[in-house]
Amino acid sequence: MRVVWFKRDLRIADHGPLVEAVESGEDILFLYVHEPERCRQPDVSALHTAWEVANARALSRSLQRRGGTVQIRIGEPTAILSELHAHDPLTHLHSHQETGLMWSWERDKRVAGWCRANGVQWNEHPSNGVVRGLEDRDRWNGLRNRRMTAACFAAPESVQTHPYIDSIDETVEVVPDHRNLVNTPLEAGERAAHGWLDSFVERRWVDYLATISNPATSPNASSRLSAYIASGVLSVRQVKQRLLKAMHEAHGQSSVNMADFRKNINAFTSRVSWRCHFVQRLEMETTMNTQSINPQLDAALERTNVEQRYQAWADGRTGWPFFDACMRSLKATGWINFRMRAMMQSVAAYTLWLPWQRTGNHLARLFIDYEPGIHWSQIHMQSGITGINAVRAYSILKQSLDHDEAGDFIRTWVPELSMVPTPYIHEPWTMSDSMQETTGTVIGVHYPKPIVDENEARGLGIKAAYAARKHEEVKAQSARVYSRHGSRKQRRQRRSTRAPVKKDVEKDPQTSLLDFQVAQAGSNEDKGRLKG
Ligand SMILES: Cc1cc2nc3c(=O)[nH]c(=O)nc-3n(C[C@H](O)[C@H](O)[C@H](O)COP(=O)(O)OP(=O)(O)OC[C@H]3O[C@@H](n4cnc5c(N)ncnc54)[C@H](O)[C@@H]3O)c2cc1C
Repeated sequence: MRVVWFKRDLRIADHGPLVEAVESGEDILFLYVHEPERCRQPDVSALHTAWEVANARALSRSLQRRGGTVQIRIGEPTAILSELHAHDPLTHLHSHQETGLMWSWERDKRVAGWCRANGVQWNEHPSNGVVRGLEDRDRWNGLRNRRMTAACFAAPESVQTHPYIDSIDETVEVVPDHRNLVNTPLEAGERAAHGWLDSFVERRWVDYLATISNPATSPNASSRLSAYIASGVLSVRQVKQRLLKAMHEAHGQSSVNMADFRKNINAFTSRVSWRCHFVQRLEMETTMNTQSINPQLDAALERTNVEQRYQAWADGRTGWPFFDACMRSLKATGWINFRMRAMMQSVAAYTLWLPWQRTGNHLARLFIDYEPGIHWSQIHMQSGITGINAVRAYSILKQSLDHDEAGDFIRTWVPELSMVPTPYIHEPWTMSDSMQETTGTVIGVHYPKPIVDENEARGLGIKAAYAARKHEEVKAQSARVYSRHGSRKQRRQRRSTRAPVKKDVEKDPQTSLLDFQVAQAGSNEDKGRLKG
């Protein structure tokens, strides 16, 4: 028989390994494995596995409706394969390639060894835009684009039923419903995923750029596709091709303002493209959760763990109202927008000078959409340890005033501050003693004092970050990082316009789009950032 092993590709549409197995006409077992080894990793939480199992169950229902036999098992993949092999000898294993951290590579090596030892052919198909075996990025864009424009695989209408193996789900009563862990509007399965995609390209794009950085409005205005793409319920190619279709449909529709439509959809498309760029980075550096891609720079920064700072940051009890509101909202819902994620990590790295590995693991565990490739790339960037991205140390006060001027988001998530008048909501410690008494918000009693002086600590962090980048060995390593991982988009543009070659600095998707908006608005965001 053949086994189709589903990992983070929990869909039946645009699934090459599934189509390949079905076309063989041989008996098939569809397998998903809930792996205890994965659950023990420091970046993995019950939320991740609950969300994934919910999607595996939805997939199982779809496959069983088409006649398929599906097993959702708990255990070590090679042990489960051995057991199945004893029942009905396997000839082929079909799956997508998985880009993950070191433990998943080691597991895949064990599976490859098991296949070799048992004479089983393992057909691994490429996943999204990630290209295995590349040494640098010179050919990557072209290879990725070719994949994105190829036709999606259609979902099979029917699949073979295994003649004597039964469908089972060992996770019932073991893995909870993800909605019992966080308050989320996300429902599992392909139908729900396409619902979010369709509603975004048909209606919700209107508010995308204007509201995605506001933590109160972004839960509805942002596409919310990340958790579906992370678990492979949607492929990146499906998203890209749906966007192209929407572009065609919008043309000639008098009700659509094409300039607005293009601006919003292009911004969204560019983020989706950056996704594969970052996952490709992890594909080439599997230890990004423990080691910086620029170890010389990381070592020069000498960040240190101060337990009290870490706990205040992780619990959302720093004494900075907007930061605490963001952390508490993330804990309760499993999602927060890009800008707030960037701020949270940058506060840990620059203002509190905490080591990025621990804070990165904490954030990873809280995100329902955890995708190691994007996550660790962003943790590196927001901590200033790549050497190829600009130093960006977010000011909490500036973000608070920009995105929650009236303090409503703060009052929702930090109820201790609900009686604080608006002029003081961003810095409640500036209230007089008598005002603290009358509002029932005594700082240091009902709500913590700021853990450090933000302005001063952030300034010191920025200074230290620039100083570390000046070391000769750091500069040399930064050039190597750019050559191996930097986006080639800018480099090609420079060559074609024959502009003088400047220092290699890679932009990141959201901030480069924001730079565009800021330039248009005529403000000086960078100066604001440095000065707070
Ligand atoms: C510290 C930090 C950690 C992050 N960790 C993750 C993570 O674990 N998983 C994750 O999916 N995103 C992560 N992001 C990127 C981004 O914040 C989320 O993708 C986004 O907020 C998800 O919401 P959305 O689907 O509505 O995004 P949209 O803005 O609607 O974007 C559409 C899609 O594009 C991709 N995307 C968006 N932003 C980025 C980006 N900066 N880089 C690469 N791809 C992007 C995602 O797949 C997303 O679903 C992280 C960002 C930061 C700063």
